[in-house]
Amino acid sequence: MLEISDLDVHYDGVHALRGLSLTLGADEIVTLLGNNGAGKTTTLSAISGLVRPSGGKVVFEDKDITGLAAHKITSQGLVHCPEGRRVFSTMSVHDNLLLGGYLVRDQAEVRKRIDRVYDLLPRLAERRAQQGGTLSGGEQQMLAIGRALVTGPRLLLLDEPSMGLAPLVVAQVMELIADINAAGTAVLLVEQNASAALKIAHRGYVLESGQGTLSGTADSLRSDPRVVEAYLGGA
Ligand code: ATP
Repeated sequence: MLEISDLDVHYDGVHALRGLSLTLGADEIVTLLGNNGAGKTTTLSAISGLVRPSGGKVVFEDKDITGLAAHKITSQGLVHCPEGRRVFSTMSVHDNLLLGGYLVRDQAEVRKRIDRVYDLLPRLAERRAQQGGTLSGGEQQMLAIGRALVTGPRLLLLDEPSMGLAPLVVAQVMELIADINAAGTAVLLVEQNASAALKIAHRGYVLESGQGTLSGTADSLRSDPRVVEAYLGGA
């Protein structure tokens, strides 16, 4: 479903991605692991059109989408849920979800998708009139993911959904991601919390200084001494 080859990204003076290649199948959760500054966010932004690659190719469902405008990529079913939740704090939960449908013409379809989000996340349904900014951190993360779902993704890019959340809440967010995947959406999951990500991912890639250095099934990465040492706290 997604195939990235030899992707390069330069910012002013920074060579942030250096020939990254990866693939993702339509039924997969693939995780991208790496330390601060390794290039994980840049990878997602280069896929979703938020930054322009200086080299390489991004192919989504057999179409070359390299360098396309972000809104065109979104409307093809590839949706980026960025780091930091970005919930609109003075708008209600429901209005935040409605915003997810702004590129969708069919309003009946938007309503159906929002109902599906409420089925998946009853806590949001109970709080539909509450202002986004008054939700807990975990609820805000769920709302950000819910809003992305209303956009109608076949592939969802998630950037550090566990950031700043308590362990129990991280587990709930990971469970939500696994449920979304089981219902038919592919997921590319960027995480610093390698342990949580590898529990739900099918496969993963390790990124160091803008290059893919290791890849494999989640099980093989979890037991790889290099991954244990660098990303699983040596446990
Ligand atoms: P983190 O987990 O800290 O967000 P990351 O793996 O997502 O890290 P990126 O944010 O992709 O890493 O950054 C990769 C490199 O590119 C870093 O050296 C960073 O400083 C640099 N970089 C990122 N965005 C920009 C930008 N807009 N302008 C200049 N350099 C940037």
